[in-house]
Amino acid sequence: VPTIDFNAEVPIRASVDVLVVGAGPAGLAAAIASARHGARTLLVERYGYLGGNLTAGLVGPCMTSYSLDGTQQLIRGIFDEMIVRMEAEGGAIHPSKVPANSAYCSYITYGHDKVAPFEPESLKSVALAMCRQAGVELLLHTQMVQPLVADGRVTGAVVASKSGLEAIEATVVVDCSADGDVVARAGGATRTGRDSDGLMQPMTLFFRVAGVDDEAVESYARAHDDEYRVFSSIVETARAAGEYDIPRRGIGLYKTLKPGVWRINTTRIQNVDGTNVDDLTRAEIEGRRQVTELMAFLRAKVPGFAHAELLDTAATIGVRESRRVVGEYTLTLDDLRTGREFDDVVALCGYPVDIHSPDSPDGRFEEDPTANVYQIPFRCLVPERLDGVLVAGRCVSASHEALGAIRVMPPAFAMGQAAGTAAALAVAAGVAPRAVDVRALQDALRADDAYLGEPARV
Ligand SMILES: Cc1cc2nc3c(=O)[nH]c(=O)nc-3n(C[C@H](O)[C@H](O)[C@H](O)COP(=O)(O)OP(=O)(O)OC[C@H]3O[C@@H](n4cnc5c(N)ncnc54)[C@H](O)[C@@H]3O)c2cc1C
Repeated sequence: VPTIDFNAEVPIRASVDVLVVGAGPAGLAAAIASARHGARTLLVERYGYLGGNLTAGLVGPCMTSYSLDGTQQLIRGIFDEMIVRMEAEGGAIHPSKVPANSAYCSYITYGHDKVAPFEPESLKSVALAMCRQAGVELLLHTQMVQPLVADGRVTGAVVASKSGLEAIEATVVVDCSADGDVVARAGGATRTGRDSDGLMQPMTLFFRVAGVDDEAVESYARAHDDEYRVFSSIVETARAAGEYDIPRRGIGLYKTLKPGVWRINTTRIQNVDGTNVDDLTRAEIEGRRQVTELMAFLRAKVPGFAHAELLDTAATIGVRESRRVVGEYTLTLDDLRTGREFDDVVALCGYPVDIHSPDSPDGRFEEDPTANVYQIPFRCLVPERLDGVLVAGRCVSASHEALGAIRVMPPAFAMGQAAGTAAALAVAAGVAPRAVDVRALQDALRADDAYLGEPARV
């Protein structure tokens, strides 16, 4: 590729304690936790509203925050607080009230007990209120383009917006970009995809439909309870007749809080990389083509959808997987299988490995059994060599298989809360984030209603 030399003198917009990049579930929790712990915190988000996949991606429901057997809520803290606040204004249902095999979880049982359905507009306003009440400074419509690095330490970032290029200085940067943009551009190590061929999980453009006959869907689902996935026989019949070409066995239809409105998680675009803008463009075009095909299919074939209308498509294609930062520890499938305990545990989770095949119509849902409860250690949030930066959410240090489990939104909240709290503690103590006193971090998380298991464990 031909190159040009590009140098620019840019104004310093702000100097803060903690700069959080990305306002998805990880970034929201990180920024709120950091500000609540007294750090001057700036949250930078490329879209004009908060939420990441919770809003822009139209992704939902929030997968389980409970143990795999559905008996114990593991992810609490800021995640639970946000759900409770949304529920109070009619914008969510607390997971304790949502059983497996219900319309809210597409009639799936395994791993789908206690999901949290919510309305994206409610999330936008509640997240904004929580950030503002915590004292988080916001910079929307702003993309982090280049971290500032000095002597192996990230010291801030250059951001781009309608105001042009500007610099933000920070003592600690928390990379919640989901793509590890900060760490990757600062020269930190990252990995992508499966070990065998580097292929990543497929992308999906979510969309919502209105005008669904909820009762008719429910009756069909109850009459087909014995199918591995409700609706899969409809898909297979259409595929055999040459009427359906989406490379995915099942259809994911998720009822929302609004009567007649369902989220559709079914388009599938394989062989694409969320850090490559040509792939993203191609995926948006193909995703939209599939939405048109699916609307016709739903209306013609799926009970209850005869009069369904397209309500909206997500503002962005959904990326399930891209860069994984290489951290001080890399969480493995074996850790999830055995429920391995870590002295530096900062989050407990129970969602199983959920890998959508990069190259076939399959999913790998029950192939990799995980423990009822497994742990995420602090070291997964600490990049191997770079200082001044922590990561949380989809780009944490985990294998392709382990990320297949911890990539969902409640664990992203839990990791974000841990990273934001650690960032604030690092600033207060004047130490590098990797040198934070882990006991003090765990005590702070517990005091803020995070659940890390029984205190005797650490
Ligand atoms: C198709 C699909 C279906 C899924 N289904 C579910 C589900 O049903 N339930 C569930 O719980 N999870 C689901 N997930 C997983 C979940 O949505 C994500 O893994 C989760 O949102 C990750 O959280 P995050 O905060 O790391 O990233 P994101 O939610 O992606 O948020 C990242 C934020 O950072 C911003 N950003 C990125 N780069 C920059 C930059 N350089 N500068 C400024 N801002 C930036 C983005 O705009 C975004 O707001 C699904 C994911 C996909 C793609």
